[in-house]
Amino acid sequence: MTIKNNLNNLKSEIPSSVVLVAVSKTKPNNMIMDAYDSGHRIFGENRIQEMITKYESLPKDIEWHMIGHLQRNKVKYIAPFVSLIHGVDSIKLLIEINKQAKQINRVIKCLLQIHIAKEETKYGIKYSELESVLNYSESLEYINLVGLMGMATFTKDEQVINLEFKNLKKKYDFYKSKYNFSVLSIGMSGDYQNAINFGSTMIRVGSKIFGERK
Ligand SMILES: *Cc1c(COP(=O)(O)O)cnc(C)c1O
Repeated sequence: MTIKNNLNNLKSEIPSSVVLVAVSKTKPNNMIMDAYDSGHRIFGENRIQEMITKYESLPKDIEWHMIGHLQRNKVKYIAPFVSLIHGVDSIKLLIEINKQAKQINRVIKCLLQIHIAKEETKYGIKYSELESVLNYSESLEYINLVGLMGMATFTKDEQVINLEFKNLKKKYDFYKSKYNFSVLSIGMSGDYQNAINFGSTMIRVGSKIFGERK
């Protein structure tokens, strides 16, 4: 089974302390079950409806991570089961997650997505906004802010990628003890090795496990 091989190869390559999120977006349930049957339990999706459909039809011990941009009006649909929201990029979104979490009396783990790439299109908060978002988050009882997430520029220039990861790691370390951070979510199929070199604790890998997406 190639998915199983891909997973095992990847896992043998990364330190056991680094958490692997298998990004299953666009991929069918049977491919997720191949990974599941080889022991994997953590999957990442970037669309709400797709994640809900998969959650409903697949084993309940899967941990679902929302890695994409999240619209505020969709938070309520995933609040009951999502295990980590990676892409929190505004105070408004934090407030909505807190509100939905409070209604079901469940604390939801979140990461703040930081805009580290050169592309305008990638979501995320700016470094200059980080301090105020962190300050505000302390008042939200149903949010457990466990760390930071970032996506590097899409480029073959490793110096660019490395500098972006290095700067994010610096920020992560700066706030780590004050906010009790434990997760730095950086690294995808193309750059997870760079990310791990710069202190990633969680990588989000899709195509290297499940094959290219259309
Ligand atoms: C799709 C996606 C990934 C995985 O990308 P691959 O290059 O297939 O590994 C990781 N993170 C986010 C936020 C994504 O949207």
